[in-house]
Amino acid sequence: MSPHFRAAIALALLLLSACAAPPARNPIARWVPSPNEEPRRPVIIVIHATEQESVARSLHTLRTANRGGPVSAHYLIGRGGDLYQLVADERRAWHAGGGRWGRITDLNSASIGIELDNDGEAGFPPAQIQRLIALLDDLCTRLRIPRSQIIAHYDLAPTRKRDPNRLFPWRELAQAGFGVWPSEDAPPAPEGFDFWLAMAAFGYALDDPEAALRAFRRRFRGIEGDDSQPGAEDARLLNALVQPLRPPASLP
Ligand SMILES: [Zn+2]
Repeated sequence: MSPHFRAAIALALLLLSACAAPPARNPIARWVPSPNEEPRRPVIIVIHATEQESVARSLHTLRTANRGGPVSAHYLIGRGGDLYQLVADERRAWHAGGGRWGRITDLNSASIGIELDNDGEAGFPPAQIQRLIALLDDLCTRLRIPRSQIIAHYDLAPTRKRDPNRLFPWRELAQAGFGVWPSEDAPPAPEGFDFWLAMAAFGYALDDPEAALRAFRRRFRGIEGDDSQPGAEDARLLNALVQPLRPPASLP
């Protein structure tokens, strides 16, 4: 065996051992491993729209250094329902960016990101939504993610994002058992209803209340409302959404 060949094998072995990362251990503690463990599981699903012209274009964006910085998502669904996985479920993809939903401050660590091929303006074809529903069913079952825990990218980052657009069919998704939807015949919000307190309880960060209100209207009314104050219809829908979060009246 030539010295060059031996050196090449030694280098290959070194690289191989570098790839097989050992379990992360904190050097300040004594390592006494327990077999009772598994990969961490995500607890929420974020829906995106690619805002690009094609699946091919988005597959490139989501798998390269990208001009605006590297980004990724766990899944991408084409307009015809073709489904791609780019990142393993237990790995952290780079899809959410900065933002907050309820008490979750690091959405990328806590979530699965699903991109839908969409130019940012068009509606979402039935084949794409049917495949999304099948994927949500698979993820929620396998990873035990609560079926109500499905949000839009704009929900967690209302000042920065508006994807998926106002035409995304949240009502249809709720009818299939995913996400939340206010009951259609909900009564008006009661006298003294605190709209912003309810928005915070529902999950919205209120650093920019107007942006949060725009996100709420896009999601539950399908409109890009520009009125900066909540109206009676906003209050009625939000009240219906937070109703299940309230303690029963019989509690002291
Ligand atoms: Zn997005």
